[in-house]
This record gives sequence, structure tokens and C-alpha cells, in this order.
Amino acid sequence: MMLSLFIAIIIISLFAISIASLSANEESPIALQTRQNDIEKIERLLPQTQCGDCGFNGCHPYAEALIENNVEINRCLPGGDETIKELAMFLGAEILPLYKENKASNIIAFIDEAVCIGCVKCITACPVDAIIGAPKQMHSIINQYCTGCELCIAPCPVDCISMVAAN
Ligand code: SF4
Ligand code: SF4
Ligand code: SF4
Repeated sequence: MMLSLFIAIIIISLFAISIASLSANEESPIALQTRQNDIEKIERLLPQTQCGDCGFNGCHPYAEALIENNVEINRCLPGGDETIKELAMFLGAEILPLYKENKASNIIAFIDEAVCIGCVKCITACPVDAIIGAPKQMHSIINQYCTGCELCIAPCPVDCISMVAAN
């Protein structure tokens, strides 16, 4: 009788310990919701080009990695310095110089205005509004806004955009 009681106590104790450790490892619903809200807020700070330049499969996974502290805040090339500043402010992180893996630093886009047909496709592609122009008019780059992300190159139907050294 005593032995059965002892075994029952051991089993109940082990069960209680395993339940406690499971709940310790799980985030509470409030913590999960807060985390999700923070990811959404960070995502809204990103340019939404889903280009993958940051090394993630889009802006949402990059926002998740930022919340997990798995990556630096300077990996979004299309967002440029402005996005870094906004991320630093939101996350309370240090401002870092823009990271340009596999891309030359200090390059910006240049439009050969004599060839441009004014199709506006580059304006749509540029995440930081660094291109000015109107339909059927020549387009130009605002040098100080261009982050050198190269996202405007592919959409141009007449190949009149190239990357050049920034002065
Ligand atoms: S580099 Fe920036 S814009 Fe491109 S997917 Fe990553 S976070 Fe989004
Ligand atoms: S490279 Fe093109 S798309 Fe990227 S910021 Fe400069 S003008 Fe915009
Ligand atoms: S995509 Fe090319 S052709 Fe079209 S407006 Fe831009 S620079 Fe001009």
C-alpha cells in the first residue's frame, strides 16, 4: 500500500514538472500578440519591394529576424539610410552604415535622358522616390536620394539606366 502511494506521488510529481517546463518554454498569448504587432510595425518601415537584397525572402521575414535580434538593421539596401534611421529609432539600436553585400559602394543610377521614352516603369520600381519624370517625358535621378539598389535597372524597356560612381 505504502509502495503504491509512493509510486503515485512520484508519477504526479513528474507530470507536474513536465507541465511546468512546457509552459515556461511557451510564450504567453499577450507576448505573442505584442511580438506580432512589433513585426508588423517594423514591416511598415520597410520599402515592400520584396527584392530579397537583405538576404531574406522579403520584408516580412527580415522584420521577423530584426525582432529576434538575428540580423543588423542595415541590410535593406532599397530603404537606404532613412530606413536604417527609422529602424534604429523603433528598436533602440545604434545607427549603422548601409551594408552592400556583393554591390559596389558609392554607386547611383544614371538615366541616359536622350534614350528615355518616359514609360515611368523606373519610377514605379524605385522604393525611395529617387526618380523624377512624367509620362512621355525624360526621367532623371535625384542623386542624393538614390541608394544604389539597382531595382530600376531591370524594368527599363530601353536599357537607358546604368549604375555610375557617385560624386
Ligand atoms: S531588402 Fe528591404 S525591400 Fe528588399 S526584401 Fe529586404 S527588407 Fe524588403
Ligand atoms: S538605384 Fe534606381 S531604384 Fe534604387 S534608389 Fe536609385 S534610382 Fe531608385
Ligand atoms: S524605365 Fe527607362 S525608359 Fe522608362 S522612364 Fe524610366 S528611364 Fe525612361
